[in-house]
Amino acid sequence: MISKKLKKIIDLDKHHLYQNYGDRQEVCFVKGEGSLLYDQDGRQYIDLFAGIAVQNLGHGNKAVLKALHSQLDKIVHTSNHYYNIEQIEAARLLSQLSFPGKTLFVNSGTEANEAAIKLARRYGLSTSDKRYEIVTFQSSFHGRTLGSMTATGQSKIHSGFGPLPGGFRYLPYNDIKAFKKAVDKSKRTAAVMLELVQGEGGIIPAEHGFVAEIFDICTRNGILTIVDEVQTGIGRTGKPFAYQNYGILPDVITLAKGLGGGIPVGAIHTKSFLTDYFGKGVHGSTFGGNHLAAASAHAVLKEISRPALLNNAQKISSLIFDELARIKDRTGLIKEIRGMGLLIGASVKTDGANIVKKALESGLVINCTAGDVIRFAPALNIAPSLVKKGLAIFEKILTQEEQ
Ligand code: PLP
Repeated sequence: MISKKLKKIIDLDKHHLYQNYGDRQEVCFVKGEGSLLYDQDGRQYIDLFAGIAVQNLGHGNKAVLKALHSQLDKIVHTSNHYYNIEQIEAARLLSQLSFPGKTLFVNSGTEANEAAIKLARRYGLSTSDKRYEIVTFQSSFHGRTLGSMTATGQSKIHSGFGPLPGGFRYLPYNDIKAFKKAVDKSKRTAAVMLELVQGEGGIIPAEHGFVAEIFDICTRNGILTIVDEVQTGIGRTGKPFAYQNYGILPDVITLAKGLGGGIPVGAIHTKSFLTDYFGKGVHGSTFGGNHLAAASAHAVLKEISRPALLNNAQKISSLIFDELARIKDRTGLIKEIRGMGLLIGASVKTDGANIVKKALESGLVINCTAGDVIRFAPALNIAPSLVKKGLAIFEKILTQEEQ
């Protein structure tokens, strides 16, 4: 039963807003504390979703709030016509946490990928006028603007948008033979862009051998490697960036989601030589990395640098994998459990959307992706007791579903 207050909010939403998100989950969160959320009627929920892997430090993180308040009191926006200390500080930390390089700030994941696509084209076309192709993978997700959407290897996302920009090639994920056949010695491939755990595609990790061979082929052929870390970055996989689990060094990482602690900010962080391809006037953004967004990113990155946080993420990851394995044995409704760090999916033999709805009714926030994959992406600093409580709710729902 939805309350009168919620009913009014839903009616107003339908009256004033685009309905492109379909029927939203029947709740309006008004407050968050750590991994707890509170709705319009004051009801409490356990958050194992963190706003689609954004609130990696939980809601209302003290260090981030302090940085935001202090920045709000000073200055919010001036534009990229002027120097910006907060950007420099955030970029310096990015280099420390990933690899020494250079950063360009944008506002979102799709924009970070647009920047990477444009950079790859400028790079490829500087070597040959035929070298502009970007290889991506089936069931990938790279964003919703025209370029990133076209990079996305899912026809349902392309559908109905007419002629899409050319120069993208979609290969099967985790299939090194297909990659070799398509790319080795190709004079057209400028770059490969991939997620190391496909998030929206159903929490599918890339196999280590597949990734190692891709990087080897790309290095030998001068093909740029772009790792889309929008969902996997900022500690989500138990390391600052997912590529660090693979012993590889990408040319470009694209970031957003967790980078701003909830404030919209994205970035590309690249090896330094690539700055040559984005010279004066070639790319830009009015808001990209404004003082507030960059201060937030800086505060988040400082927190991510604390070993205790990533240690907790790894501990919680093991706990969730163990608990899900136990629930799988008990209920028989889970097909497969996969993922990395705190980006974990459990594919279910029942209606995933219904499980999410029931969980919400029982005070648990989770999500379903790719039709039948329940996604768990809690804050990295969540307490084990809260995770256990949340998974107990999940188990109860699956048990009821079985009956
Ligand atoms: N890339 C990946 C891997 C994502 O998961 C997403 C969003 O889910 C995006 C890009 C797009 O990010 P945004 O929604 O911030 O544009």
